[in-house]
Amino acid sequence: QSDRPLKILFLSSDTGGGHRASAEALANQFQRLYPGSTYELFDIWTDVDEVSWPYCTIKDTYVTLSSTPWKWRTLYHISNNAAYAKFVDWHSDYMNEELIRRKMDSYDFDVVVSVHPTMNYVPLQSTRAIADKRGKEIPFFTVVTDFGSGHCTWFSADVERIYLASDSIKKIALKRGKMLENKMVMTGLPIRRDFALQADALGDRTSQEGKEYQAKIREELGIDKEKKMVLVMGGGEGVGSLSDIVNELYAKLKLQGVNATICVVCGRNERLKNDIETRCWDTVISQSLNSYESLRSRFYNKMLSWHAHRSRRIQAALDRAAARAEKGKDVAASPGCVDVVPLGFVKNMAEFMVAADVLVSKAGPGTIAEAAAVGLPVMLTSHLPGQEAGNVDIVLTGGFGDFCEDPETIALEVACWLRDDNLLDIMTKKAKAVGQPHAAEEICTDIGTITHQYMERNCMKANMANRIH
Ligand code: UDP
Repeated sequence: QSDRPLKILFLSSDTGGGHRASAEALANQFQRLYPGSTYELFDIWTDVDEVSWPYCTIKDTYVTLSSTPWKWRTLYHISNNAAYAKFVDWHSDYMNEELIRRKMDSYDFDVVVSVHPTMNYVPLQSTRAIADKRGKEIPFFTVVTDFGSGHCTWFSADVERIYLASDSIKKIALKRGKMLENKMVMTGLPIRRDFALQADALGDRTSQEGKEYQAKIREELGIDKEKKMVLVMGGGEGVGSLSDIVNELYAKLKLQGVNATICVVCGRNERLKNDIETRCWDTVISQSLNSYESLRSRFYNKMLSWHAHRSRRIQAALDRAAARAEKGKDVAASPGCVDVVPLGFVKNMAEFMVAADVLVSKAGPGTIAEAAAVGLPVMLTSHLPGQEAGNVDIVLTGGFGDFCEDPETIALEVACWLRDDNLLDIMTKKAKAVGQPHAAEEICTDIGTITHQYMERNCMKANMANRIH
C-alpha cells in the first residue's frame, strides 16, 4: 500500500533552531502524505545516558562557541577534513555505538532520517545492527539542513539517499567521495508547509494579485497596508546586534522620509523585546543626528592620552563618521512615519514574511530558505564562520540581497532599497528563482516510496519465514 502509515525516527539535536525546524517540517508532511504516521525525535548525544566526552557536551559547546566566532571558526576549520571525520567516526563508534544502539532499539521505527551533521555514521551502524536483530531491512536517509556550505561529517557514503539544497553543497559532497553521486537528490531545504501554502497563495508578489494578497495578510496581522514593512530577526534566539540595527533603521528611514513599519522578531530573547517596547524613539533620532558630534567628543578624550600616530587613525574614523552622518541627513525634507513593533517568538513566520518588503536577518539557512520561498529580498547582518559563510554566497550570487555587518550601513542600504520599487521587484524575482517551497513534500514522497518498498520486502520475508516454520 503506497499510503501506509510510517513510523519515523528523526535524529536531531537542538544546536540552533534549524535542525528541529526541518525535522518538524518533514514530520508534518509525512503525517499529511501518509495519514496515521508517527514520529520521534532522538538526540543520540543527549538522550543517551553515559555517552562519552566530548560528545555529551554537544549542545553546550554549540552555545558557547557560536557566541564566540573566532573559537567557532577555529574548531570548524580544524574539524572539517576527511582525516578528522574518519578519526571522530571511529572514536565515537568505539566509545558509544553500543550505548546508542541499546537506546535506539527501544524505539519502534520503519525508517531513520538524520537531519544533523554529527548523526550520520554511528547511528547508521546501530540501525544496521538493529535491523539484523529484528530480521528486517531499515533504510537510513540524510537530509542536509545546511544551505551553502556543510561540514564533512554530513556526507556518509553508506546511507540510502542524501537530500541536498544547493549546487555548492553538492560540490562539497562530491569532494567527499564519488560514491555519494548516485545517492544525491537535489531538492532544496525542507521548510514548514505554511511557506508552501503562502507561496502558492501569494504567487508573484510583484503582480497586482500578489500585492492584493500581501495587503490582505497585512490587514490580518494589523500592519499598515500603505507603508513599507521591514522584518528584523536573529534566528530562534533573537541574537546579533538587533538592538543597534533597529535604532539605525528607525532613524535612517525617518530621516530619509520613508513611511515604514519595522517588525522586530525577538524570538526567545525577552530582554530585547522589553528593551524595544520601552525605548524612547525621539532620543534615537537625536542620537543619530548627533552621531558625528558624539563620536568627536568620545574620541577627543581618548586622543589626549593616545600617542601621536594613533591620532591619525582617530581623525580618519571621525572623517568617516562625518561622511556617514551627512549621508544620513541627506533627505530630511519631510520625515517618514515609522512604527516599531516588537514581537516575541512568532509562530506564523510565513505570514510575516509575505507581509514584509525586506528581511533583515543573520545568515541562518532556514530563514534564508524561507525568505526565498516567498520571494523576499534579504539583508544579512552576520554569519557563523565556516558553517554559515556559504549561506551568504547563496544570497549574493542569487542576487536577492546583500551582506553587511555595520548597523548604520545596513540601515542606509535598506532605506535605499525601500525607496526603489523597481529594485525590490528585481530582487523578489531572483529570490523566487532560488526558493523551493515544496522541498519537504518532495523529500517525504521520495523517502516514503523507498520505505514502502522496504516494508513490502520485509513483509514478504516474514511471510516466507512463517510458511517454512
Ligand atoms: N523562527 C520562528 N519564530 C521566531 C524566530 C525564528 O519560527 O520567532 C524560525 C525561523 O522561521 C527559522 C528558524 O526559527 O525556521 C531559525 O532557523 P535558522 O536555520 O535560520 O537559524 P538557527 O536558529 O538554526 O541558527
